[in-house]
Amino acid sequence: MKHYKPKGRLEAAAYINGVLKGDRVLLSRAITIIESNLESDKILAKEIIQAILPHAGNSIRIGITGVPGVGKSTFIEAFGKYLITQGKRVAILSIDPSSQRSKGSILGDKTRMEELSVMQEAYIRPSASGDTLGGVANKTGETMLLCEANGYDVVLIETVGVGQSETAVHGMTDFFLLLMLSGAGDELQGIKKGIMEMADMVVINKADGDNVRMSEMAKLQYQNALHIFPQSDSGWSPVVSTASAIKNIGISNVWDEVSKFKALVDENGYFNKNRNHQQIDWMYNNINEELKNLFYGSKNIKGHLSRLEKEIVSAKISPVKAAEIMIQQFKESF
Ligand code: GDP
Repeated sequence: MKHYKPKGRLEAAAYINGVLKGDRVLLSRAITIIESNLESDKILAKEIIQAILPHAGNSIRIGITGVPGVGKSTFIEAFGKYLITQGKRVAILSIDPSSQRSKGSILGDKTRMEELSVMQEAYIRPSASGDTLGGVANKTGETMLLCEANGYDVVLIETVGVGQSETAVHGMTDFFLLLMLSGAGDELQGIKKGIMEMADMVVINKADGDNVRMSEMAKLQYQNALHIFPQSDSGWSPVVSTASAIKNIGISNVWDEVSKFKALVDENGYFNKNRNHQQIDWMYNNINEELKNLFYGSKNIKGHLSRLEKEIVSAKISPVKAAEIMIQQFKESF
């Protein structure tokens, strides 16, 4: 089958060599191919990923979440600059669930991380767009692999802590950081218990000026709250600290904790075990999503669902029976 190939596309080898040599421009161009929905690009993307895969994985992957306004971009700017002083190269990717639905974006509209974005040791790539979270997660995951193969030692994956996207980010990172504010209840901050439970570290941001005392109180409260969760398989007990991203206070402490965590999970084998699980889950997530698309996209199914819905509502058929009929119908379509 002949596919449309956009002008200016190079051969796979050019992207692969460029990425492996640390070329930034070719990294960006390779990411564009990963993000593309064109069939010819999808083929090219698979070839690139396959080739760089053995060279990826050598970074610490940190997920960062928190509600809009908590200070994520300010924190990442401070944290990223600190990491650069420690000799690190930092890639910053984001998963922005809002861009899927509204095409607008919670994360991307304002100018973010102005100083970091011009630094050679930092690479910032906004959220890939896509119709489904699964699709966006795939693209972000593969972008992360490209960044690692390009030589970035720390990958920060940022998301807004309001929906499903944290689970996706948690599923592709080694360390999960939750940014919170003092003085706002958990409900107010839209943080679900499940997200708290995923956190390896909670940072109470904006601990400056009049807010210092409140932040210390919040720290104690979160410490208590985290105690009630069962011990994680990593063997790590989540820590709570305060910080002021804007005043650059408590930033190096976050990296100290990440380093302690890494030493622990390297030692006890959890680091590799978790990465392996994540890779396998990634496959199953794709299988699940593809199967769902195949099912609901099937001509044999589409027309019948609304009829069955009506029959269920009028008690003509049980939901279990209706599902069974649909699955049978689907099987027969092969
Ligand atoms: P995001 O939406 O989570 O990315 O949040 P931003 O980083 O854009 O920050 C939201 C607002 O909070 C901005 O006006 C920041 O200047 C402010 N802000 C961020 N961090 C701090 C901090 O540590 N202290 C104070 N006082 N303000 C902060």
